[in-house]
Amino acid sequence: MRILSASDEKKNLPFAWVTIAAMATIFDLHTHSTASDGTTSPKELIQHAAEQGVDAVALTDHDTTEGLAEAAAAAQNLGVSFVPGVEISASWNRHVVHIVGLGIDPGCKQLQEGLATLRQFRNWRAEEMGRRLEKIGINDAFEGARAFSNGTLIGRCHFARFLVKHGHAESEKKVFQHFLTHGKPGYVPGKWAELEDAVAWILAAGGQAVIAHPARYPLTRTKLRRLLAEFADAGGVGLEVVSGSHNRDETFTMARHAQDFTLLASTGSDYHDPENPWRKLGRFQALPEICTPIWHDWDLPLTTRAISA
Ligand code: AMP
Ligand code: MN
Ligand code: MN
Ligand code: MN
Repeated sequence: MRILSASDEKKNLPFAWVTIAAMATIFDLHTHSTASDGTTSPKELIQHAAEQGVDAVALTDHDTTEGLAEAAAAAQNLGVSFVPGVEISASWNRHVVHIVGLGIDPGCKQLQEGLATLRQFRNWRAEEMGRRLEKIGINDAFEGARAFSNGTLIGRCHFARFLVKHGHAESEKKVFQHFLTHGKPGYVPGKWAELEDAVAWILAAGGQAVIAHPARYPLTRTKLRRLLAEFADAGGVGLEVVSGSHNRDETFTMARHAQDFTLLASTGSDYHDPENPWRKLGRFQALPEICTPIWHDWDLPLTTRAISA
């Protein structure tokens, strides 16, 4: 990761800026915007982060870097620290795992080509989901879900919003339970990025690769540790020890796994929308003391710096 000093001419800087407060304490390094399946625009996300007193925020949309320029500009205006990121959908041993990239250069060709293949799969998957839902009597779900998306990326959340709106379930959570998870009528399995490829794209873009919300995968302890070993072998360096979707026990379990595999610890809410009470921007447990934070060598404290490839 290359750090540029504040004195560099703006025209010579890559587009992404990061401004980190001297006493940084809250690092929310996993969030979503309308560029993927969040409901907050990139600009509003940064405004919200500023209001919440978040010291550094990473925008990590699913399989796209579309929102980063808008978020970076807003962060610069508001003096909020910003880390350009992405959350890549990957396949590992028939499981879907999410790999967060932090400090990436979105101009990286290898990264963008990789992400484009995932969005292509998403487009086909969305049409297939529409066809499968049609078979159980739910019409126009593809068009309906697309209307909830920003047009560049379509995900299961957009279907969930459409199905709730049309009374097929009372909440998005229930839509997932009844229609959109493995074995349910609207679920379409498929091949995402290979784990090694997801990590390689992030490394090519000058970023750090982190396994997102590790306690959410239906993996035994042994399988999870195999994933961590393979991830580290591939060049992955971080584990999201603190997540908006982890409880206290899960956090401490993940802290020990991170220690065992010498992985750096990351923290993130996985914020998607202002309504969700357990994924509030910048609101999560403190990192256990045994952890080495992923930001430990981010050259803190900083005044105004830019992170790029
Ligand atoms: P996709 O990447 O399009 O397959 O969608 C994955 C996204 O769906 C996750 O990032 C979450 O935002 C959401 N999601 C997955 N499982 C659930 C669930 N059980 N309840 C609510 N949202 C979920
Ligand atoms: Mn999501
Ligand atoms: Mn995820
Ligand atoms: Mn996420």
